[in-house]
Amino acid sequence: MDFGWTEEQKMWRQTVREFAEKKIKPYVREIDTNKKIPESIIRDMGKLGLFAPTVDTDLGGANLDWTMACIAAEELGRADISLAIPVLYLVEASWGFIFNRYGTRKAKENFLSRVTSGRGFCGIAVTEPGGGSDIVGAAKTTAVKQDGVWHLNGEKMFISGIRESCSWGGVHLTLARTDPGAGHKGFSFFAVPLKDNDHVETTLLEDMGRMGISTGGFTMKDVELSEEYLIGELHKGFYYAMEGFSAARTLIGATCVGAGEAALEMGMEHIKCRESFGRPIGSFEGIQFPLAEHYTNLEEVKLLTYKAAWIMDKMYRENKFSHHDVALAAAMSKLRAPVHTFNAMNEVADWLGATGYTKEYPIEMGIRGVRSYSIGAEGTMNIMRIIIARELLGRDFLPYNQ
Ligand SMILES: Cc1cc2nc3c(=O)[nH]c(=O)nc-3n(C[C@H](O)[C@H](O)[C@H](O)COP(=O)(O)OP(=O)(O)OC[C@H]3O[C@@H](n4cnc5c(N)ncnc54)[C@H](O)[C@@H]3O)c2cc1C
Repeated sequence: MDFGWTEEQKMWRQTVREFAEKKIKPYVREIDTNKKIPESIIRDMGKLGLFAPTVDTDLGGANLDWTMACIAAEELGRADISLAIPVLYLVEASWGFIFNRYGTRKAKENFLSRVTSGRGFCGIAVTEPGGGSDIVGAAKTTAVKQDGVWHLNGEKMFISGIRESCSWGGVHLTLARTDPGAGHKGFSFFAVPLKDNDHVETTLLEDMGRMGISTGGFTMKDVELSEEYLIGELHKGFYYAMEGFSAARTLIGATCVGAGEAALEMGMEHIKCRESFGRPIGSFEGIQFPLAEHYTNLEEVKLLTYKAAWIMDKMYRENKFSHHDVALAAAMSKLRAPVHTFNAMNEVADWLGATGYTKEYPIEMGIRGVRSYSIGAEGTMNIMRIIIARELLGRDFLPYNQ
């Protein structure tokens, strides 16, 4: 067991930190207000290899492992506590990974090489208006093959990156029923381009936070796709989606560590300087004890997150561990990460007094942003609990039938 970082990991962290401090942090308020990440930031992130870094090098990726991908996520969370850029990063990284692993060569050459340079979006479209947690029960989207062409019909809702996909181009990996009688074994995954697609109608939603990246939905009316747009094997889409969610949940853990630590550091600066009753407020136990609790909680998240990343690296690179081990570790990280980070940010807002309620400090952006992770993005907290219990008790104890 080794809790240290390799020289390569330290250098990567340093590189991303310096980049993010200089090129991202000063613009976070502007991003939140304008609801858009400036193109110059996207371009520079692309140059540094921050889009889908686990993708193969011949498609413009860096073939990074998950520990390295998490280090970048943590540093982006530290710089942008509104979490807009970290969300953009983690969506591209996790779903770009699935596209790279299972997509056809032709589709990858058309789309993935654009994603890795920041000129194309790769999103995920599972959730439907009827519900996200029970997608097997709620999904109405279908894909039917006629004369060698797939025809997709249905509606996806609460989907990240709709505006980005429509302006940059790219694809949303979209789950559709291909065998309606087969439950979760009857889904397939398709790469659906949204930009300039006459058979797609998009909508945008106004979110509470992480304003720099859009959320919305799209309706497909007879979207025609050739076989190269099918991701992996027919009827395996549900499994690919679950695999991608585990990756995304681990990256969420890492962004929460970065954002939570940044918030605590901001709070510590303040409590060391702000005086009340003749002393810095940081010398009162009423302030110190919560600091100790939140710091320890974030350390717990860090350990869970990097253990999940370590398990993923062992599975993908050394064929040790299973998808079940990864799902369990990722769910535990996601169950703790947004809650501990939200609580730490909320505490720091208290320490800041009235300024904590103003836009002078970025803390309110953090509080709004991190809530997206606990409300539902990449799965709700109860779904994390269900996954953990499923791995402990076995599928026979699932509260639903599949
Ligand atoms: C900001 C944001 C971005 C998102 N981006 C994407 C995206 O890019 N792509 C995508 O596909 N989806 C996306 N989602 C959707 C997300 O995956 C869903 O919100 C999530 O799966 C929950 O689905 P739901 O919102 O329909 O809530 P529901 O499934 O209706 O759940 C509502 C509540 O009931 C609880 N619940 C449900 N079933 C059970 C049970 N068996 N036991 C106990 N409690 C239960 C849930 O935990 C939750 O608290 C995004 C969501 C958000 C908030």
